[in-house]
Amino acid sequence: MAIESPREECGVFGIFNPDEQVAESIYLGLFALQHRGQESAGISTTEHTEIFKKTGLGLIANVFEQFEMSELQGDLGIGHTRYSTTGLDSIENAQPLLVNGINGQISLGHNGNVINAKELKKSHLGHLDINYKTTTDSEVIAHMYANAVGKNWLERSNYCMRIIKGAFSLVFMTKDELIGVRDPLGIRPLCLGKMDNAWILASESSALAHVGAEFVREIENGETIVINKDGIKSSIFSSKPKNHKMCIFEQIYFSRPDSLINGQLAYESRVRMGESLAKEHPVDADIVVGVPDSAIPAAIGYAKQSGISYTEGLIRNRYVGRTFISPNQKIRELGVKAKFNVLKEVIRDKKIVLIDDSIVRGTTTSRVVELLKDSGAAEVHMRVSSPPIISPCFFGVDMASSSELIANNYKIESIRKIIGADSLGFLSMKNLLDSVKSNDNEYCRACFTGEYPIPVQLDFDKFHLEKTKEKN
Ligand code: AMP
Repeated sequence: MAIESPREECGVFGIFNPDEQVAESIYLGLFALQHRGQESAGISTTEHTEIFKKTGLGLIANVFEQFEMSELQGDLGIGHTRYSTTGLDSIENAQPLLVNGINGQISLGHNGNVINAKELKKSHLGHLDINYKTTTDSEVIAHMYANAVGKNWLERSNYCMRIIKGAFSLVFMTKDELIGVRDPLGIRPLCLGKMDNAWILASESSALAHVGAEFVREIENGETIVINKDGIKSSIFSSKPKNHKMCIFEQIYFSRPDSLINGQLAYESRVRMGESLAKEHPVDADIVVGVPDSAIPAAIGYAKQSGISYTEGLIRNRYVGRTFISPNQKIRELGVKAKFNVLKEVIRDKKIVLIDDSIVRGTTTSRVVELLKDSGAAEVHMRVSSPPIISPCFFGVDMASSSELIANNYKIESIRKIIGADSLGFLSMKNLLDSVKSNDNEYCRACFTGEYPIPVQLDFDKFHLEKTKEKN
């Protein structure tokens, strides 16, 4: 089965605050990470006796309307907001998960996608009598950790890092410890924050500011951090690759612009992408317009470099969810219309440079170009602040199958015709890397190159664990 729709990944958050109850902070932290997943959310906490857990489908606000925060007692806890990259978006699949193993009970939240979950179920967990409750790779990871070999969590995590293949930024907890893990390639982000006596782990640094915490540092690739009443301990997986392979799409689109990714503020990286785009693909135009919200920093950069004035031309209805949330192409197409309205008086008879951060299927771009032209734009010159996407993601970004990726099927001139633009230019890989101040080896760029940091099975599909379940 093909992957149905390009989607997001997940957000994770964890806190140990010996001075106070943590449920409200987790709730706030998850709000700051809502852009990373809107299908389900959940929180686990503990008072060091048992682990309390609440999960539900939908946005964080909807999920926690159903519960009293007082049901989540404790000074230690984790939270998760989910977009499925493996498994269906059913309530059973909502995280955090709660599992038992030889290492006791753990509650776990995962961001990423593991490509050998099916094999691990047989090879490393097959001898155990596990009653799987979900169809996610995350539950396999949870059981791997709950049953891992080692005297403590640092040792157990290093054992798991040797075996689990793919992307896994984790926060998990026992009734006394908060643990953070970033896979050996460091594909998905994870950072550490501090607030008085509290330690915090979060997918993005922007979530730290929202709970009043200071950013300390990003967790390294292959690093495990254990936090408890005695302080904080860290260990680095000895066979980790020298360079991490952070997902470059975090810089381009996923992360919030106010998050630090690989030491760079995503906002500044995006402005630089826009500046480079203006040098690489200049055009004679009257105004620069960005597709809100994700392409605004790149549009500002393009305007700054080109000297063409930046103008708002599209107003986004903020209360309509992301286009990508829609389950099928028809609703997605309507979604674009429901999402944007044009400032007709501003753009009428103008030659526009329209900036977006990426073209995946081409749905958004075609509709936005059409909207602008129908509203009286004289010309629309499309500029994209990333290279053409030619390969799907296997590491936590539900992007689309190869056959749906417009740049996998058509050359640039054909794409231009399909989207109806007067001209089209993409940022080159070299300029993208310069914009994020990276050397060649620091990022996973597989969606643009087809070269994956670890071998992948190209026909992998996100429902593969559902199929295993049917067969059992
Ligand atoms: P498309 O309409 O399929 O060409 O997708 C491109 C648009 O969706 C751009 O406006 C991007 O900002 C946004 N986008 C790109 N990748 C994703 C993703 N994985 N999830 C959600 N939105 C995305």
